[in-house]
Formats: sequence, C-alpha cells, structure tokens
Amino acid sequence: MNEPSVERPILLLRETAARIAPVRGTPVDEVLAGATDSFFAAESPLGTVYVAVGQEGVRYLDPADSEEDFARRYRRRFGRFVSPAQGDEVAGLAEKVASALAGERVDVPLDLSRATPFQRRVLHVVKGIARGEVRPYVWVAREAGTPGASRAVGNVMANNPVPLLVPCHRVVRNDGSTGSYAFGSGEKVRLLRGEGVEPEEISGSPYVATPTTGIVCHATCRNARRIQPYNRRAFRSVRSAVEAGYRPCKVCRPVAAA
Ligand SMILES: [Zn+2]
Repeated sequence: MNEPSVERPILLLRETAARIAPVRGTPVDEVLAGATDSFFAAESPLGTVYVAVGQEGVRYLDPADSEEDFARRYRRRFGRFVSPAQGDEVAGLAEKVASALAGERVDVPLDLSRATPFQRRVLHVVKGIARGEVRPYVWVAREAGTPGASRAVGNVMANNPVPLLVPCHRVVRNDGSTGSYAFGSGEKVRLLRGEGVEPEEISGSPYVATPTTGIVCHATCRNARRIQPYNRRAFRSVRSAVEAGYRPCKVCRPVAAA
C-alpha cells in the first residue's frame, strides 16, 4: 500500500484556491493562508440568505442577490474576504442556523467581535426576545444598561449584522407601531404575523393591564396573552397604567418611564 501523499492535499488546496480566487477577486496566496472567512447559504423567512462565519460563530447574515454580491458586501463591511465553505467545515453550525431560521429555539453561537461593547449589549438583549413577542426601543435601551438611548438602539438595529438570528424585527417603536426594518417595514409586518403577532393590535396601545392581578404588561408578554378579553385594559404608556394603579409585570419588565 502507498503511504498517503502530503503533496496531494496541498495540490488540491491550491487548485481549489485557484478556482475561488478569480471569482472572489482574492489572491491565491491569501486564500491559502486562510485569510478568508467561510460562508454558506440557508433558507429563511426572508428567502435564501448567506451566512458568514467568524471565529466564534455567525458573523454576518444577509439576503444578498448572489454569492458574489454577498462576498462584496462582506468585504466592504468587515474588510475580509469570504468564500464558500468547503466540505463539512461548518456543518454543525449550518445545521443550528437552519433550525433557528425555521423557528426552533436553538442557541446559535455568534461572532460579534467586530461590534462595540454597546452594540454587543444591545444585540444580546434583542437576541433574548422570544418568538411571538415584541419589545419597544425604550425597553431594549433600559435592558442594555443605557436607559433612554432609544435612538442609539434604533441605529444598532438598522445595522444588525445578524438579522433573524438577533431578531431585530421584534423591536418596535415606543408607541407600539411596527417602525422601520432593514428589509422594509412590510417584511417586518409579514415576519411578525408569521410568528403570531398582530402588529395592528399593538400599535397605539402597546401595554395591557388587568384588574384581576393589578399588573401592566407589554401586550405580547406571555402573562398578557392569558388575560380574558373582558378584563383587558389597553394603555398607550406604562406611566398612564401606573397612574391608574397598575404595577409593572416582573416577567416582561415594562419601562415605568415609558
Ligand atoms: Zn408581562
């Protein structure tokens, strides 16, 4: 039997690099040196998306028109090359991403090393908003440790590197209206409906209270969902509910100043 040849895999690697390089505009030696990140395609509620992988997990998700388009955007944003994942190098992660995008509760590791500490805190808070629920900017700001920073939270959402995995579509304006979305406000409404949220029920009255418990909730809090229609009291703000004698829910923690 022949000894396994060392030259053979290196030759294959060089061939692969030479094949990828012209498409990505990447120098062959950079591909060989591992200076590129990997990406793969996945199906999502936004259609086909491309998912780039950094050292710690998913770094970027985008519904680009083509692989080339995605690679260009990635390069512009992160200053690094990206090329299709080879073999099963990201198989485990790709499986988790597919499950998460299909609506399953899967913890997908993210690589947010390029984000600022503030962006990371905001993205972490938003990652925790459950399917079927929405939260206003003012809540995300308070939970991220920067009360009142609604506008800054909005900026982080607009530049979210990993939409759907960090569900920025579940963050709504402080008055409960759906607000903008990187992929269009219509898409945001469609995504929320697909998750069992009726945006028009929340718009204008994002808080709900009930005299049976004396508690005020975000309208999509799991506690609020249990309130019988005849016991349901809608409020425009937490403040008005508190003035009417209600206490903020300990589960969804609505911001009393809102
Ligand atoms: Zn609640």
